[in-house]
Order: sequence, then C-alpha cells, then structure tokens
Amino acid sequence: MVGNVPVGGGAPITVQSMTITKTADVEGTLQQIYGLAAAGADIVRCTCNEVEAAEGLAQIVPRSPVPIVADIHHQHRMALAALEAGVQCLRLNPGNIRKPEHIKLVAQECRDRGIPIRIGVNGGSLDPALYEKHGGKVTPEAMVESAQQELAYFAEVGFEDVKISVKASSVPLMIEAYRQLAEVTDHPLHLGVTEAGPLPGGLLKATAGISTLLAEGIGDTIRYSLTADPVEEARAGRQLLEALGLRERKNIDLIACPSCGRAEIDVIGVAAEAQAAFGEREIPLQVAVMGCVVNGPGEARDADLGIAAGRRRGHLFVKGRNVAVVPEDEMVPTLVEWAEFIHEHGVEAAVARVDTEKAAREAEKDRAALLAEQGADANASEQKVDLIHKRVEG
Ligand code: SF4
Repeated sequence: MVGNVPVGGGAPITVQSMTITKTADVEGTLQQIYGLAAAGADIVRCTCNEVEAAEGLAQIVPRSPVPIVADIHHQHRMALAALEAGVQCLRLNPGNIRKPEHIKLVAQECRDRGIPIRIGVNGGSLDPALYEKHGGKVTPEAMVESAQQELAYFAEVGFEDVKISVKASSVPLMIEAYRQLAEVTDHPLHLGVTEAGPLPGGLLKATAGISTLLAEGIGDTIRYSLTADPVEEARAGRQLLEALGLRERKNIDLIACPSCGRAEIDVIGVAAEAQAAFGEREIPLQVAVMGCVVNGPGEARDADLGIAAGRRRGHLFVKGRNVAVVPEDEMVPTLVEWAEFIHEHGVEAAVARVDTEKAAREAEKDRAALLAEQGADANASEQKVDLIHKRVEG
C-alpha cells in the first residue's frame, strides 16, 4: 500500500507522476498535485533534496488528494526527514545512496513505520562498481543485480515492503531489464522509460516500453517521464491504461476516422473542436467523429455516440442507430449535449426523445445522394489508375 492506494497483488495498475515545483513551495506544489490527480495520477512523487523540501512535505502530505512519494537523491538523512514529514513512500536510488549502513538505517525506519520503499534503479546512475563489473556498460543484468543488492540489504533488517523499477532511456534495454527482473522477484514493479524526452517522441518511447511489458503481464504501476507539463504524464498514463482495458474509462474516449476522399467535413478540425469541448469532463463514453455518412455510422457502430457528416448536415447516431440530423455548425455542441444526457439518464431515455425512423430516413437520403455523386470509388483511384496507364503507355 502506498497510503490508501494498493500496488501489486492483482490491484488495478496505477498511474504515477512527479511534481516539477520546488517542494518548499507548498502552495505551488499542492496546486500541481491537484492538477496531476485530476488528470489521472493515483500517486505523486515530490523531490526531497534539502531540508526546506522536507519541511514543505510536512505541510503538503496532509493536504494532498493522493499519496506522496519522496524522491531521495544522495543523502540518506533526507529519507529520514521525509519519513518525519509523513510521506507514504520513499524512492531510493541504489546508485546514489551506497553505504550499507545508511541503506539499512532507512529500511529499519520504514519497517518500524510501515512505509514502503521503491528501489529505483536508473541506467544513467548505476552504481559504478556494477558498471565496471558488467564490462563498463549498462546492461539489463547490471540493473537487476543492483536491485537485488538493495533487496539483500533490506532483508538483513527484515524489511520487504518494496516495489522496484529498472528504468533506462533505451527502450529495448529497459524492456529486457524488467523481463529479467520479473523472473527473479515477485515484488510489484514500477515501469517507466527514463528521460523519454519531449512530445511526441517521448510519448512514443514511453508507450512502446510500458505497453510492451504490460501486455506481457509485467508491471503494477507506471510513470511517463516526459519533458513536458507533468499533467501530460498523468494524462498519458491514464489514457494508456484505459486503452489497454486495464482501468475503467473516466473521461470521453474520442475516436475519429482518419478522413479520406469521401469526407464531407474537416474531420481533423471537428475532432479537435470536440476534444476541446469535452476537455477533462468525467463522462465515460466513447464518442465518434466520422467524416461521412456513407461509412461513418457503420464503422463506428460500437461507439456510444457519434456524428457523421453528409451534405452540410451532421447525422447523430447512438450505438449505431440514427437519432437526429443537425446543421454542420451544431455538430459539436449537439454531441456534448447528447453525451451529457446519456451519461445522466442512459441510452434508452436519450433515444426516446426523438423519432429515430425519421433520422434514419434522412441519413439514408444523404448516403444515397453521396454515393450517387461520388460512386463507390470516392478517392477516384480507378480514374487515376487509367491516367497512370495512359502516361506510362504513351
Ligand atoms: S469513408 Fe467516411 S468515415 Fe471512412 S475514412 Fe472516409 S470520410 Fe471517414
């Protein structure tokens, strides 16, 4: 347990993030923690690098909406100070705090207080002795050995309330390190690609590493380490878990077609408008924005709600059933209104408000008209192929 949040042992996978404020700035840090929690973070880490930070934690922890992990850098005394401040977990980097007596002293304190520790091995700050031993390189074996050494020190004082991470900025390296670690320990694992970098590359790297492992059943809690507003980290973590079906949906899941020659609207623009309109609203529905009524309602029939464009009108559908026709500029506000109604009253009550047969007839009319105008080959590829042949064959 990290405070009241279970980690491992079959508990739902949790999302973590980290504040980037000075921890001594209590109000600024709390504001960021609230933002992270709203975006999906279950647990938040704050740096505890100096005595002022520990003093800040003493005020932050009781007012935080989520459990707080103190990130300890080089001084074991900061770990002891963070415990006095009341944090719900510590993160120790075995590459930075290396004296066995210091490690054991902190573990003893945690044991007596019932506070867990994350052993946070990091490829970039591996214990130099292990680095040398493994041929002057950061290898998966070296990272796993570092975690095991720390576990052995903890075991000497009877402490085993531990989760472990073996992060690296190289995706293949971190994947292999976690795989090896999962072979040798049953402790919960905290997944992450460290220093993944700015968007969008950082997002891709972190997603590649984390989701590969989650798909293999490895990992209990995750963190995206992005060079971005930390709210992006929390949001990405939450969305990844929802996309993988590992956490229940909290916000709108907006799906949209990629657009093509048939599109009757600017799909990218309307999807962006819908995303902005829904924002962080806690409406756990899947909503579709589709570029044409020819294929849209069918392709998005599993969505709770959607809109498809046809001849300057928007055809609204619920679970594949046509329910209304609205002018193009009312598509997004109508989607929001229907989503709110469905969330509050359910699908049947929403559909009972309208004449679905009339809406279906209107949709069929636009669909037939578009097919008549564009034919089955809306991208005109057959015509293009003819032209290509004419060019090539002279
Ligand atoms: S056929 Fe219609 S729904 Fe499918 S991608 Fe093209 S515009 Fe979108």
